[in-house]
Amino acid sequence: MRAAFLGLGNMGRPMALNLARAGHDVRGFDVAAPAMQAFAAAGGTPAADRDAALADADVVLTMLPAGEHVRAAYQGPGGIIARVAAAGALLIDCSTIDVASARAVAAAAQAAGLAMVDAPVSGGVGGAAAATLTFMVGGPEAAFARAAPLLRAMGRTIVHAGAAGAGQAAKICNNMMLGIAMTATAEAFVLADALGLDRQKLFDIASVSSGQSWSLTSYCPVPGPVPSSPANRDYAPGFAAALMLKDLTLAQAAASSGGVATPLGAHATQLYQAMVAAGEGGRDFSAMFLWLARAARAEVP
Ligand code: NAD
Repeated sequence: MRAAFLGLGNMGRPMALNLARAGHDVRGFDVAAPAMQAFAAAGGTPAADRDAALADADVVLTMLPAGEHVRAAYQGPGGIIARVAAAGALLIDCSTIDVASARAVAAAAQAAGLAMVDAPVSGGVGGAAAATLTFMVGGPEAAFARAAPLLRAMGRTIVHAGAAGAGQAAKICNNMMLGIAMTATAEAFVLADALGLDRQKLFDIASVSSGQSWSLTSYCPVPGPVPSSPANRDYAPGFAAALMLKDLTLAQAAASSGGVATPLGAHATQLYQAMVAAGEGGRDFSAMFLWLARAARAEVP
């Protein structure tokens, strides 16, 4: 397949490289010159410009920061949809964006006669490099069937979540759970410290009891119990608190437009907002433990 890959950042670069390794003819493009250089240095084939990447593409993949970038890239007179409509290319957006934008772009693609899926991922930069990402896919069955073999070159688990936007819905529900679970886990360690309970003992007990979660056993927010967790490298990300705030904010926007209250999600959003506003957005999201410990000492609001 001839593939255009737009957005060669932390996630897009390794994903595009894995697609090329699987035997596809991948031409990459990014608006940022350093991203293009890094892609070329890693063995990728950069296109001269965006339209050169799109020319004769059988499939267009995007991995962009947010909904506004995806709308701008796909829609409008010079957008991807207009450029590739005649060729009938398959469109796959892997960015994490709001459900409304995903549905709007998919509707525009459908109106132009193009098949499109939203296919956000879980697994982070490590999963992108190792081609072990989980893809949550929204779109028509026939579009999913065309996209799945390509996604398998970049991921391990490919799930068809439903119609257009369902991939994004799954992603934000999952990450809302994660944000709440991490906050709850971190808060329990703050209480354990205050009660004089050894952190390792809390881990040993809770990790095999009903308090168990991925946030505890794979990503423990205090140093020690899980050697690979970011807490052991001074909370270097991993998954930055600013990105968690982005996903929680998307979940809150979706809850509000859907007319449902998600009070724990709202509270977790407020906590991450405060942390990011204090300049901690570049730290791993498990640094919520440090933030809650400071809050417990009444050092922060
Ligand atoms: P990033 O900022 O590293 O990369 C995004 C790239 O898109 C940048 O290089 C930017 O220059 C480029 N770009 C912007 N507009 C463009 C356009 N019109 N055409 C071409 N390139 C354009 O971000 P990232 O970490 O790679 O994340 C990308 C997406 O994946 C985001 O939606 C993010 O929420 C999601 N995501 C990230 C992670 C993670 O751990 N980093 C995990 C899961 C999902």
